[in-house]
Amino acid sequence: MDRYARQTNYRNLGEEGQKKLLSSRVAVVGAGALGCVSSNELVRAGVGFVRIIDGDTVDITNLHRQILYTEKDVADGNPKVFVAAKFLREANSDVTVDAVAEKLVPENAEDLLSDVDLVIDATDSMDARYLINEYCIEHKKPWIYGGAIAAEGMTAVFLPDGPCFSCFTGAVQKEKDAPDRSCRSFGVLNTLTAIVSSLEVMEAIKILTGADTVRRDMLFFEIWDNECELLPMEKNPDCPICGKHEYRYLKK
Ligand SMILES: [Zn+2]
Repeated sequence: MDRYARQTNYRNLGEEGQKKLLSSRVAVVGAGALGCVSSNELVRAGVGFVRIIDGDTVDITNLHRQILYTEKDVADGNPKVFVAAKFLREANSDVTVDAVAEKLVPENAEDLLSDVDLVIDATDSMDARYLINEYCIEHKKPWIYGGAIAAEGMTAVFLPDGPCFSCFTGAVQKEKDAPDRSCRSFGVLNTLTAIVSSLEVMEAIKILTGADTVRRDMLFFEIWDNECELLPMEKNPDCPICGKHEYRYLKK
């Protein structure tokens, strides 16, 4: 497998790790800045099946950070997932790239997430994250959270044995109740989204290859003012989601 020689030569990955990646299936929820970088890295690393889920079309304000799209895609009004999938299929024909031009919602979660080993959060939506969290708790799948706004990034791994996203956030809230804090109003740097999504993929590769070095803390960093923090995550015994399975988003 010459294609992967530069990563199989890395001692912790090796040929065995590569075989595991090639037989792995991942869903990337979102084809924005985080989704472009993470799907690109997953496909090039040889993760055997990558499903990209996003209902949006390409907009001119996307181009500074969403690296799979061009001005032509803006002019054509193309759905992001079809552009991304075409490019990535040409980059690596070993990999099956499945493009789903829909937003992830409770009604399609089973169809879109049941046949993958791991889910990457590349959304900018708390509703989507809570839905992914609940689905992955119920179906015992790992998922990886990534958030990026202004120069602040956060990422964490959520494994089936917990703690879960709701243990950490302490509440299950609808977006309309959350403070208005979006990339539209606060901006976001393209260096930040590249870092956050690469960290997500690194954890995905570790999980898929069975590494024992998966991050168990929430990593927070601010890349303009040079801050970095590891926030401990603990399982909340009273968590309504992973403790009692009282789901707010997932339809059983
Ligand atoms: Zn929980």
